[in-house]
Amino acid sequence: MSWNSWALAVLAALVAAYLVDLIADVLHWRSTRDRPPPRLANLYDTGDYQKSQAHARASTLAGIVRGTVELAAVLGFWFAGGFGWLDQLVAAWGLPMPWDGLLFLGLMVVGQLALSLPFSIWDTFWLEAQFGFNRTSVRTFVLDGLKTLVLMALLGAPFAALVLIFFTRAGSHGWWMAWLVASVASVIMQRLMPRFVLPLFLRFEPLPDGSLRQAIERWARQVGLRLDGLFVVDGSRRSSRANAFVSGSGRSARIALFDTLVDRMPEDETVAVLAHEVGHDRLGHITKGTVLAIVHLGAMFFLLGVVLAQAGLYQAFGTAPSAHAGLVFFALLARPAELILGAASGALSRRFEFEADRYAAESAGAAPMIRALESLGRDNLVNLTPHPFRVALYDSHPPLAERIAALDRSIQSEIPIR
Ligand SMILES: [Zn+2]
Repeated sequence: MSWNSWALAVLAALVAAYLVDLIADVLHWRSTRDRPPPRLANLYDTGDYQKSQAHARASTLAGIVRGTVELAAVLGFWFAGGFGWLDQLVAAWGLPMPWDGLLFLGLMVVGQLALSLPFSIWDTFWLEAQFGFNRTSVRTFVLDGLKTLVLMALLGAPFAALVLIFFTRAGSHGWWMAWLVASVASVIMQRLMPRFVLPLFLRFEPLPDGSLRQAIERWARQVGLRLDGLFVVDGSRRSSRANAFVSGSGRSARIALFDTLVDRMPEDETVAVLAHEVGHDRLGHITKGTVLAIVHLGAMFFLLGVVLAQAGLYQAFGTAPSAHAGLVFFALLARPAELILGAASGALSRRFEFEADRYAAESAGAAPMIRALESLGRDNLVNLTPHPFRVALYDSHPPLAERIAALDRSIQSEIPIR
């Protein structure tokens, strides 16, 4: 390896992204408070409020440790000549393209998984368990991991092979070919996810007849929604956290209520939560999200194409030039760009949350929506005082206090002034 300007650029990118993460985490840690904000003073009893703050600190600390270990591992592997060694190891097998690249990328993925495994185990069986959320058995944990690996191999490997072929054989046309395939694949995946992938992890059962189903159907008629797929999923097998989601869009959409939600929440609140989820689809959030993801992919593939042609990049890591090695180095170099793009998409996603809340308030009532948010927040020990910098960087949802304040305003504006 040589210390050329590409090496310095990658080092700067990795360190800068790490420092931004670290600053956000430290600010977040320091923004835990002894007392809740006034509007949410009654959300928790004192003990649970302190638990929510302890949870925020513990998970922030876990994030700092994880980020530090990951940075140290990447830099250690790089400076010890690991990339060059792995490149030669793979080349020694004499496999034809794209098999050599798949082997290289496969080994990188295995290394990364091995590095993150202790953190997931700690997170599931210690952190979540300590706060009473975890219900995942070791068996479920292992099976989930294996299913994810098989899916990655079945879906990820053919796609990676195509990308490698395009960039190796098509030269300056490689980027848009890869972009086209990635865009088509992501649209197809969105259709397949609800029917074929999610059922591998969650058991979907139709919501049984009863007063909840009737209340939901009444609401659906009122907003002119045809309800095809209304399911209860067994989220309780993994976690006590309650949730609901809509997967897919339009006619292939499935609305899924976690059993933890159905068991615990009053009917009007459940309808409000469902209205929020349906709101995302109705307001076109899902389609807009897909379009943005495709634009994002295009920008990244274009930059990848530019970077792959730079001989200095491979010298910086001590490997021979190849699409597979370049792909890994580009991923490291692009960390700060991903952070910025992530923050931009987070900002949009938070706007969508306000819009979906408003849709729910208008169609199912602001009061039940507020109560539902409060009870979900309480059950999930949500942190009431997240630091704004961290929210801006990572959060897909606005802080609870802001969502409730927006709903409060919508109630006030409904009072007729005469
Ligand atoms: Zn939402």
